[in-house]
Amino acid sequence: MLFNEIIFGPVNSRRLGVSLGINLLPTASKLCNFNCIYCECGWNTKTENKRFNLRTEIRINLELKLKAMKDDNKYPDSITFSGNGEPTMHPEFAEIINDTIALRNKYSQTSKISVLSNATMIENAKVAEALLKIDNAILKLDSGITGTAMLINKPQFAYSVDKVIECMQKFKKQMVLQTMFLRGIYDGHKIDNTTETETVAWLDAVKKIDPREIMIYTIDRKTPTDSLQKISFDELDKIAETARKSGYKVHVAK
Ligand code: SF4
Repeated sequence: MLFNEIIFGPVNSRRLGVSLGINLLPTASKLCNFNCIYCECGWNTKTENKRFNLRTEIRINLELKLKAMKDDNKYPDSITFSGNGEPTMHPEFAEIINDTIALRNKYSQTSKISVLSNATMIENAKVAEALLKIDNAILKLDSGITGTAMLINKPQFAYSVDKVIECMQKFKKQMVLQTMFLRGIYDGHKIDNTTETETVAWLDAVKKIDPREIMIYTIDRKTPTDSLQKISFDELDKIAETARKSGYKVHVAK
């Protein structure tokens, strides 16, 4: 599933309410430095059009949409960066966040600004600083164990969970942690990030990161591989409970 517009929606999001989407990535293909086995946008492709949407196009389109919504007396609960890949890879991500804050303040003061990110770029000071300016920096960590994260997220570069945790520690209560739980077999590897070893490592990571809130979820739509299984709500809720007992607010997507 690809988003073929720069500004899309608004859609009703269980997590964010009425959410107006912003896609900084190409509208005809996915662009991401992960290649998650569960990605709703499908696998990365070699032939992808690597053109990021231009900052000016994004600003103009967002202004038109927010103005139209204001004229209708409708305001999104969230202006949300998601779309066809990883938004923080955009070379002008920080400037686009500044534009978005200015437009939100002009047309839709009650709207939160949210970014769904795989957290791979937060080592970059400019990206981290931009994410710290917004309301909801929703950062992904799918396992507390590097080997498992490598199997689930298939990063296109050297990746270390410890390094990501270290970078996330700078956010503390200014970030929301997001984790996808699943099991299945991919490329001959059995993958299950719900085992006791995994959930203990995950909780350990949660405590180190100390996020404001945690969102956990499982597969909801078609994935690029058919071998993955959804985790039941009860199982997700049991995992959530372990974090709740440590004082964390955890939202489980139904
Ligand atoms: S980080 Fe997001 S966009 Fe990138 S591959 Fe994973 S699910 Fe897809």
